[in-house]
Amino acid sequence: MTEPSGLTDLLAKSSKVLAFTGAGISTESGIPDFRSPGGVWTRYDPRDFAFGRFVDSAQVREQSWQMRRELLAGTPEPNAGHKALARLEQGGRSLGVVTQNIDGLHQAAGSQRVVEIHGTAREVMCIGPAPRNGTPAGCGFRAPVSWAFERVDAGDVDPRCPRCGGLVKSATVSFEQVLFPDTVEEAFGLAQECDLMLAVGSSLQVYPAAELPLVAVRSGARLVIVNDEATPYDEVADLVVRGRAGEVLGTAVTALLGMT
Ligand code: NAD
Repeated sequence: MTEPSGLTDLLAKSSKVLAFTGAGISTESGIPDFRSPGGVWTRYDPRDFAFGRFVDSAQVREQSWQMRRELLAGTPEPNAGHKALARLEQGGRSLGVVTQNIDGLHQAAGSQRVVEIHGTAREVMCIGPAPRNGTPAGCGFRAPVSWAFERVDAGDVDPRCPRCGGLVKSATVSFEQVLFPDTVEEAFGLAQECDLMLAVGSSLQVYPAAELPLVAVRSGARLVIVNDEATPYDEVADLVVRGRAGEVLGTAVTALLGMT
């Protein structure tokens, strides 16, 4: 692939790049986005696992572990896009990554500062015995998701917190769940601080996360959008690169920093 026009130049002029990533950066690792044909989201509707339903129904909780297992099936590896963003950070040009993804692939690629605005599917957490208003009220217990899968396999289809007996849920932000306040604050702070916002593989339609590019622009940053289809923010971007995230970022960062 030839160097995506203008992207390497803009990266070269920036010392505080902030990547803001969505499901589209992980499709080249084999993790489907909401629209991928045949993907897990064609079999499950995430609204069926909204926070209130999860809290109220043992059956929904039991189904959620099955869904989680399918979501994490196989051993997805970071692709050229995740690796390029990690290289940018290692090269001292980036503040890090704010991601809507829950798959942990930025960390697997070597990124150090990763703000997971919708949480992580790699861990589970206690949300308390009867949390209300979309707000977890747990005792602080967290464990790798394998902890829950092992209990489910042993016949405990609705595993409870070993410390307080509360409900245990994937450490993701579900529909109707309040975002984790510290994480949101960190993400918006980084958006205000960056000099280049690189929005990658996101339809930019899920709020409040999708406000981050606008916050960056209003704070004086340039905005680059890398996506394989149009987004609502293309008009305000300094550069729109239409293409596959892994190829686009891999090529641009190699042009900037050279081969490893
Ligand atoms: P989205 O599914 O709404 O949008 C993804 C965008 O990326 C689409 O515009 C799509 O055309 C584009 N795209 C897909 N593959 C691409 C590629 N290889 N290169 C460039 N563009 C590509 O995703 P979103 O904006 O992140 O919002 C949906 C929500 O879905 C988020 O909250 C996220 O938490 C969740 N989600 C996460 C994962 C994951 O963790 N990998 C997967 C599915 C959904």
